[in-house]
Amino acid sequence: MDPGDAILRDGRDLRAVVCELCRRLHRAGWASGTGGGISIRDGDRAYVAPSGVHKELIAPEDLFAIDLEGRVLERPIDPALTTSACTSLFLHAYRLRDAGAVIHSHSIHAMLATAITTGSEFRISRLEMIKGIAGHGWSDELVVPILENVAHERDLAPALADAIRAYPATHAVLVRRHGVYVWGRDWRAAKAHAEVYDYVFQAAVELHRLSR
Ligand code: ZN
Repeated sequence: MDPGDAILRDGRDLRAVVCELCRRLHRAGWASGTGGGISIRDGDRAYVAPSGVHKELIAPEDLFAIDLEGRVLERPIDPALTTSACTSLFLHAYRLRDAGAVIHSHSIHAMLATAITTGSEFRISRLEMIKGIAGHGWSDELVVPILENVAHERDLAPALADAIRAYPATHAVLVRRHGVYVWGRDWRAAKAHAEVYDYVFQAAVELHRLSR
């Protein structure tokens, strides 16, 4: 058994869960080169990783605890560390969707799905896995808004908030040639959603390739 399995099976030490999920995001290729990340909310506070660190090497004491306005409640020992560039985007999912956790993935499947899609929406239907997204069934079309990428991650926050409001059924927002933000009611739901969305994005890319 993977040593991290016990952390996730127990699931109560949310700082440890953030670190273990960061390791898994990195292993999956979703958080290479310090990109990507995850935040988990615990009531009116949330844990976020520092900016620009290797996500697979984060320890519980490296995390920031912030309130839902983004104010720092607890900080890492190293004073040079700053909160993840994704923080303001995570906060929108917490405040606008009452999410319990948010995953930001730089998965190549998410990136390629936006590269083969013109316009501001990714749409797909007739895939069994769509049922894995809360509120969706086999006969539903899965629609994910796509934001245009910007030079600095934090500057995506206003457009992300607009997309969350405009697409009440979505649990994810794609960013063109960049990746995806995915959330769920708790970290387990966010993890499941992230895996399902990634499967769907990969399926779309493969179907596109096969159709050419
Ligand atoms: Zn990113």
